[in-house]
Amino acid sequence: MIYSIAIETMPHAKLRKLQSERFVQLVQYMYRNQPFYKKQWDEHGIDINKIKSIYDIVKFPFTCKDDLRNNYPFGLFAVPQQAISRIHCSSGSTGKPTVVGYTKNDLDIFSEVVARSLCCAGATPGMKLHNAYGYGLFTGGLGLHYGAELLGMSVIPVSGGMTERQIMLLQDFKPEMISCTPSYALVLADTIRKKDPELKSINLKYAVLGAEPWTEAIRKEVEEKLQVIATNIYGLSEINGPGISQEDFEEKNGSHIWEDHFFPEVIDAITKEPLPEGKEGILVFTTLTKRGMPLMRYTTNDICSIFYDKSSKRTHIKMSSIKGRHDDMLIIRGVNLFHTQVEALLEHYPEFSSNYQLIVEKENKLDKVTVAIELNETIYRELGTAIETIQHSNAYLQNLKGKLYESIKNNIGLTMEIVLKDFDSLPKSEGGKLRRIVDKRK
Ligand code: ADP
Repeated sequence: MIYSIAIETMPHAKLRKLQSERFVQLVQYMYRNQPFYKKQWDEHGIDINKIKSIYDIVKFPFTCKDDLRNNYPFGLFAVPQQAISRIHCSSGSTGKPTVVGYTKNDLDIFSEVVARSLCCAGATPGMKLHNAYGYGLFTGGLGLHYGAELLGMSVIPVSGGMTERQIMLLQDFKPEMISCTPSYALVLADTIRKKDPELKSINLKYAVLGAEPWTEAIRKEVEEKLQVIATNIYGLSEINGPGISQEDFEEKNGSHIWEDHFFPEVIDAITKEPLPEGKEGILVFTTLTKRGMPLMRYTTNDICSIFYDKSSKRTHIKMSSIKGRHDDMLIIRGVNLFHTQVEALLEHYPEFSSNYQLIVEKENKLDKVTVAIELNETIYRELGTAIETIQHSNAYLQNLKGKLYESIKNNIGLTMEIVLKDFDSLPKSEGGKLRRIVDKRK
């Protein structure tokens, strides 16, 4: 089902016109109401009366996370504080959280884009949504909640954590859809399967997963273990929250960015020049309709590419899955490394569970990466416990390690030590974002 046919299938020329109208209004509005931008644009000699279309966006400087931090907490609000209906914060994954404020109308738009996203993920009115995103300052819980209500779903506001209780609710209430982080979906799947290997007690059909980078390897595992169709939902609090983009449940080849509200660009990480369609770089957004705290060309630090898909049901541009955050990129002996590159290879190794960590440390002044990875449950049970102690003498395990080592070397161009771990022994998601990298150099 398409939530809003007129908007989601709007021809490109019409969409561009709508973006231009909104952009011209936005620039005037920001200049009048955000002293930070007025000062910045004056310093850059930008005459806002000469801004006529969305293509003029390239004249504006970028906004970055530090601009938000320097204006902490409310310095970028464009309306008096009484007109702010809700305040959220980012999760603070990379430092002090950034604060965002929404007017009543901003919240209505937030709900609308989430309702669109849920439809795109397979939801229909009347379905039950088990919302295991954290409720609170994080935008995930409330964002999904109100969007699902607007669509006409029955929302079960479970929030993150308390896995046993989550399982009970999944079994008793039998929701058709779940929203959570991909790593937590796997924790739920493994926990349910311990009690109900054939998954007869639950009725999930769709999983809407996001808030952290994930790969096809994880999708495959979630889909198999939970017997669902799993799609990606993307967002960040600075721009709105979840529902900036969403994958279609039948297409599963990139997430539609809702371009009538969020104007995307991809720029080169070093030169900051805009990149053409299909080229990988840093994702940048401008909020076309937000009024509480609009942002111009906000550099997300998330790495991906954007592209039009002519075979899609919808006209809005798609983004590829996020490879990682630019500030999470490891540089190991001159090679750029994202943890998702290792994760992507795991799809070819069913012998491992998808739970792994990359441990980075110094050895003889050189950077060394160790992949600590769990064996899958079946192999682990067959071999017995204490895998770590037998992995050097067991020929099967040696061979398995050798295959992963070669694959990493050939595909990523780095040598990494492989350490096998018992199934269920590495840290797991407790509902929030899971950090895969342990950088001991810091
Ligand atoms: P923080 O930046 O503190 O984690 P947020 O809670 O707003 O703040 O999270 C937004 C960030 O989460 C995004 O910038 C991105 O790095 C990550 N993220 C959100 N959704 C996805 C997704 N579907 N795939 C990959 N990363 C995602």
